[in-house]
Amino acid sequence: MKSADDRTRRPGRSTTADARVSALPSIDRLLRHPAGAALVTRFGRSLTADVLRAVVAARRAALSDGRATEQVEVGEAALADAAARLLAARERASPLPVFNLSGTILHTNLGRAVLPAEAVEAVHRVAVAPSALEFDLETGRRGDRERAVVERLCRLTGAEDATLVNNNAAAVLLCLATLARRKEVLISRGELVEIGGAFRMPDIMASAGVRMREVGTTNRTHPSDFAEAIGHRTALLLKVHTSNYVISGFTAAVPEQVLSALAHDNGLPLMVDLGSGALTDLARYGLPQEPTPMQALAAGADLVTFSGDKLLGGPQAGLIVGRRDLVAKLARNPLKRALRLDKLTLAALDAVLQLYEQPEQLRERLPTLRHLTRPIADIEAQARRVVTLIAAALPGGYAAAVAGCSSEVGSGSLPMASLASAAVTVRATGRGGGSALRALARAFRSLRVPVIGRIAEGSFWLDLRCLDDEAGLVAQLPGLREALETAT
Ligand SMILES: *Cc1c(COP(=O)(O)O)cnc(C)c1O
Repeated sequence: MKSADDRTRRPGRSTTADARVSALPSIDRLLRHPAGAALVTRFGRSLTADVLRAVVAARRAALSDGRATEQVEVGEAALADAAARLLAARERASPLPVFNLSGTILHTNLGRAVLPAEAVEAVHRVAVAPSALEFDLETGRRGDRERAVVERLCRLTGAEDATLVNNNAAAVLLCLATLARRKEVLISRGELVEIGGAFRMPDIMASAGVRMREVGTTNRTHPSDFAEAIGHRTALLLKVHTSNYVISGFTAAVPEQVLSALAHDNGLPLMVDLGSGALTDLARYGLPQEPTPMQALAAGADLVTFSGDKLLGGPQAGLIVGRRDLVAKLARNPLKRALRLDKLTLAALDAVLQLYEQPEQLRERLPTLRHLTRPIADIEAQARRVVTLIAAALPGGYAAAVAGCSSEVGSGSLPMASLASAAVTVRATGRGGGSALRALARAFRSLRVPVIGRIAEGSFWLDLRCLDDEAGLVAQLPGLREALETAT
């Protein structure tokens, strides 16, 4: 680091800086240098030349600024070395895989559900070879890309029919735009949810061209509130599962059975947006109950929408199940074509639904369910193994320990559930603890496979609930000290 003093002593550009700028080699010369030529072999001439140009330009700019002149290296080997680092960084895949030790199982910013091996294999199969995606092998004519998945989904949920789109937000949009365009949709004031990442029910309604009519109050909505609001412009009753919050205390909501009876008495459909619709009864695994599409349909819902990558544990997708005539209307909307699923997602979803057809093995095979139900003793044992290795990898000034914590489900699923878990915590023992912890968090994030933890209560927490690849984590711990030096 240069102090302000150093800078004021060297105003503008000095003669040494001028000399060093003219010492910068040409791109041609760099490409002919053995280190440059090695980069050309590996990365190709045009990309290498581009990056070398950027490196030279950055050095020239640094010298012109008059900053740290003697520290700016202008030798060919040093420039090629800088370019090699940039080129290697460019080669990193994006999005880069990480370790999710954040304590949130379905973390939207970390890609939500991790796919089971069966889904990954299915994606690979259809990625590397042509497939009968929209081709009927029986007749040799055009087929329906969704048919197999829709059949599975109907068997699993008891629905008459189903269709698929890109995500649940798209599912809600398509249903509203198809069934209630320029008409009114009734929704309880207690259910105007925001999911984060710009999904707000009122905004979705507006972009679907639907007039939203709120009924009831934030904490209490009664059947009569809906009954009184139904008029000749009403097209649909909507119930939204408050998947990421609870309203408690003096509350009342209209149950789906009552709402569907009211809707049907008035010749209207009831739509239920479940968000994170679990496809299996989570209570069976000792988890809090989450409403399922099966329950919503049994209660009389005409259309139910839910996500593929929340509790379902599959790829990003929006699943719509319900009445055949309504699904047929959705299929005819041109929006459906714009929101349709691609073959990779279809293949992954099909593989995940196949796992649900064998519920006995679901817990071991579906990573989301495995993470949700992982026994605490198992996580604690892992924390005891890992803590000594982390302690050994840390420089002085840090102390590691095992501590109990609680994981969240995340992604607007089971908002009140907190699952007992175990973490490795690291405390900074010296002064300036806060910045030392931030430096540590940054160092963990800068490892080859970045490790994502969180800072809370004066410690850095690594919740091990979702740590599948323990060997992979341990293998990169020796890099921590160097990462920490770079981070500070
Ligand atoms: C998560 C959620 C959505 C949005 O689903 P995406 O699959 O993220 O598009 C919509 N409604 C509810 C109630 C949700 O929980």
